[in-house]
Amino acid sequence: MAMQEHNYWLTTAEFPAPDPSRPVPEVVDVAVIGAGFTGLSAARTLAKRGARVAVLESQTIGWGASSRNGGMVLTGMKLGVNKLISMYGREMARRMYAASLASMECVEQIVREEQIDCDFSRCGHLEVACKQKHFDDYERQAEVIEVEFNHKLRVVPRSELTSEIGSNIYYGGMVDEVSAGCNPARYVAGLAGSAIKAGAEIFEHARVDAIERDSRQGEMGWNLPTSRGTVWAHEVFVGTSGYTSAMTPVLQKKIIPIGSFIITTEVLPAALAKEVSPRNRMIYDSKNYLYYYRLTPDRRMLFGGRAAFFPENDQTVRRSAEILRRGMISVYPQLRDARIEYVWGGTLDFAFDIMPHAGEIDGMYYAVGYAGHGVAMATYQGQKIAEMMAGDNPENPFTEISFPGAPLGLYNGKPWFLPLAGAWYKVLDWIS
Ligand SMILES: Cc1cc2nc3c(=O)[nH]c(=O)nc-3n(C[C@H](O)[C@H](O)[C@H](O)COP(=O)(O)OP(=O)(O)OC[C@H]3O[C@@H](n4cnc5c(N)ncnc54)[C@H](O)[C@@H]3O)c2cc1C
Repeated sequence: MAMQEHNYWLTTAEFPAPDPSRPVPEVVDVAVIGAGFTGLSAARTLAKRGARVAVLESQTIGWGASSRNGGMVLTGMKLGVNKLISMYGREMARRMYAASLASMECVEQIVREEQIDCDFSRCGHLEVACKQKHFDDYERQAEVIEVEFNHKLRVVPRSELTSEIGSNIYYGGMVDEVSAGCNPARYVAGLAGSAIKAGAEIFEHARVDAIERDSRQGEMGWNLPTSRGTVWAHEVFVGTSGYTSAMTPVLQKKIIPIGSFIITTEVLPAALAKEVSPRNRMIYDSKNYLYYYRLTPDRRMLFGGRAAFFPENDQTVRRSAEILRRGMISVYPQLRDARIEYVWGGTLDFAFDIMPHAGEIDGMYYAVGYAGHGVAMATYQGQKIAEMMAGDNPENPFTEISFPGAPLGLYNGKPWFLPLAGAWYKVLDWIS
């Protein structure tokens, strides 16, 4: 099979197909913008509470990062624990870490309750150290996580690493048994099915062009002109992640879209698959410019990274395939002859402080900024912000932290500095 510029996960999933001729409703309680993990999880929760919900998606269900990712359902956040504590203090960092563990439960519970067939499995994750000093830091991190957050990680010295990974380039590793893996396209398709079952309506090819304050029969709400007609909503929830646009300038200025790319090999012989990943972990390395990889449930090596820094297009996808193949062989020389069958890219969302942010901004609800940890956290934030909209007061530390814009306000939502960011990450990897 020749290499396809296509998302492998999509070949394994069936999506609900909302009737394209059904007009968008004139009035709803909540308009949810974006049909990814965030929006669909919010829609499910709100519809279960009896709200009339319309999910407005400019493409198709799961079209964004939610069907394109590595399917790693990870504990923790992108920022290391020491950085978290230094930025927010012990108590807040504890609440954040607890939320990350709760987000794992949240995904597992939805998968179980809705019987979503997405190969969810608590296979654990393995972080591998690219330098001795990264490995030395694992001991310290594991200790802080155990003492402060009551969560146990296992540090694996280099001499024992072959029990975890069939590569000899790393200085050791750290295992978290609580993390999980899933097939993200099947998961997002199932989440959409569960939102529909709860009573939410999903409208595909319904791009929202603006969100305007408007009153109707004396009630304040929002007017949303879309490519399929105008919707009036009491409340709006924005879940557009890395695809956030000028529709919400206030969010666009705070979110940096970053391209990430993935290749998958042909199906590997069982013995070779066992050799490269004996415990079937979700694996990523310790660099800023990191590689992440895992076996798919049908035994392909899925290997991803931020190969090109611009969001995906035909050129960056093709270039990334070659860069990633070289990266994969540097980790696993034994995969030199494995054919690459699929390559695709997607866009991640980073806030300037690399933290998730959620809550209310200019009267709209939102949740963004997952920085590559969105499978669990996006599902969780969708649910928590929906609970908040329904009048509850759920524990959610990410609504309490400030959401910084660019330093000196120097960003208008057009990522002109991304090649610089790419170069900067590389420099950081040499020096740190
Ligand atoms: C290649 C890649 C690998 C990743 N790997 C992992 C991983 O292994 N583990 C992990 O935890 N996270 C990973 N992530 C991150 C994770 O996928 C995201 O954080 C998560 O999917 C975000 O979900 P979301 O619903 O917020 O956004 P998305 O799934 O991106 O959905 C946003 C949706 O909003 C829609 N939209 C945008 N503007 C409008 C508009 N004006 N009107 C209507 N609709 C609009 C878009 O079409 C899109 O479908 C990865 C991301 C990428 C790209």
